[in-house]
Amino acid sequence: MTSESTIRLKFWGTRGSIPCPGPETVRYGGNTTCFEVTCGDRRIIVDAGTGIRLLGKKIMLEEGNFLNADLFFTHTHMDHIQGLPFFAPLYNPVSDVRLHAGHLGDQKYDLLGIIGTMLMKDPVFPVPSALIEKACSFNDYPCGKIFDLGDGIVIKTGKLNHPNGACGYRIEYGGKSLAICTDTEHYEGKLDDEVLALAYQADVMIYDSAYTDEEYPKFKGWGHSTWQEALKVAEAAKVKNTFLFHHDPSHNDQRMDQIAEQAAAINANARPAVEGEEISI
Ligand SMILES: [Zn+2]
Ligand SMILES: [Zn+2]
Repeated sequence: MTSESTIRLKFWGTRGSIPCPGPETVRYGGNTTCFEVTCGDRRIIVDAGTGIRLLGKKIMLEEGNFLNADLFFTHTHMDHIQGLPFFAPLYNPVSDVRLHAGHLGDQKYDLLGIIGTMLMKDPVFPVPSALIEKACSFNDYPCGKIFDLGDGIVIKTGKLNHPNGACGYRIEYGGKSLAICTDTEHYEGKLDDEVLALAYQADVMIYDSAYTDEEYPKFKGWGHSTWQEALKVAEAAKVKNTFLFHHDPSHNDQRMDQIAEQAAAINANARPAVEGEEISI
């Protein structure tokens, strides 16, 4: 495999629900969901939680303020979109950023409606979405669609089990695969076929591990899973490397270290995602 056919993955935000910066979360991170995936010279971003602000800062510093990218949303809960108005490259009208969302179906708002009338709209936010719309196109697609992005990049999508809907992704490039399965809740006594299909023999799987099995009963129906379920999926789907993800804000670094240790004792190739970490797949 040449270096050009490697998928690069960077975690810009690993936290779920709400940002929780501070001395207790310094190592695993306090920013909410954002992944940067690089395939050759193509850039794919998944989710625009608060972590995307740092990605935008890097692009501004190192590449000028122009961005050409596809931005896929797992869904539009606040922790996955709230960084978007702070993603600086979108304010350059010649940037070309294609935004995709597959979870909205026949819901009241489409993606542009959510950004333009709920997120970037006074009196909630003073900067109107018109200021980023020149750089963006908005694509609402039916979850389950397979994208051929060109340059050998294929992205498969699958429905996740989450309130208001969510889409999981499987990014394939150069014979490698990356599965992103967050936010999703497991079913009792049965693995989720959609998740298994996305994760099947993936080189890397990122899985919603907001809770532990002990905590889960209190949060049943909230749309999240556990690190123990992540390991079950990894085993059943023959996943090579598993990242536990969507860390609960109540899990400080010390708690995350315990989870890391317990998970590694069962699967040596599973561990919590760390904000700022970059890997080659
Ligand atoms: Zn979330
Ligand atoms: Zn959610």
